Amino acid sequence: VLEIRNLHKAYGSLEVIKGVDISAPAGHVLSLIGSSGSGKSTILRCANLLEDSQQGDILFCGEPVTWKGEGLNRHPADKAQMIRIRTNLSMVFQQFNLWAHMTILQNVMEAPLTVLKRNRDEVEASARAYLDKVGIGDKCDVYPAQLSGGQQQRAAIARALCMEPKALLFDEPTSALDPELEQEVVRVIKSLAEEGRTMLVVTHDMKMANDISDHVVFLHQGLIEEQGPPDQVFGNPQSERLRGFLSATA
Ligand code: ATP
Ligand code: MG
Repeated sequence: VLEIRNLHKAYGSLEVIKGVDISAPAGHVLSLIGSSGSGKSTILRCANLLEDSQQGDILFCGEPVTWKGEGLNRHPADKAQMIRIRTNLSMVFQQFNLWAHMTILQNVMEAPLTVLKRNRDEVEASARAYLDKVGIGDKCDVYPAQLSGGQQQRAAIARALCMEPKALLFDEPTSALDPELEQEVVRVIKSLAEEGRTMLVVTHDMKMANDISDHVVFLHQGLIEEQGPPDQVFGNPQSERLRGFLSATA
């Protein structure tokens, strides 16, 4: 679904991604782990074109992103393609970013109605079904402020699902939550993994990464330091840095 080749990204003179290759085939769950500042969020944001990059190819369903300009001036050339990619790589953020003035149901329905211009009755039926699926079907008519953090994050996941994306991108979906609320979100993410959804998950939760991933990528200062299946990355880490990181987070 998503393939990133030799990605480079700088903020001004600060190089933060220094040549990263990542590929997420359909049905696979890929976790990105690494210390704070290693570039995990930046990779997700470059992948769905929320952020420009300076070098490298990004292919979505085999189709390369078309660029205009070079280096620091490089940006996506095709607006329609950019919208298509963003829609199909639906992102769930650490801070759930729900619209405070809309009910939960309206939050979930908003993008399918305005961006995809889908039929209202169909969107409502699918929004209700996704809210049921994440366990908050009874919260359709309340506002975000009336929900717990875990419920708000599950609403944000329902909102991402309602776009019917080809892949889901999660950026630390549980790190803003208290431990007991975290588990209800972890359960939802696990069930999505079991369904065979394609997901890229940035997480501090090594247990979740171990449970859900087909492939784990450990980033260090904008480069992939080590990667592999979870039993290898967590059970038999090769690099000194990864061993240090894992013992620090255990
Ligand atoms: P964390 O675990 O803390 O979320 P991360 O791995 O997601 O960290 P990124 O947010 O990708 O790290 O940041 C990578 C580097 O890029 C950091 O050094 C950060 O300071 C820098 N950076 C991120 N966003 C910007 C920005 N908008 N302008 C300048 N520098 C930035
Ligand atoms: Mg981050």
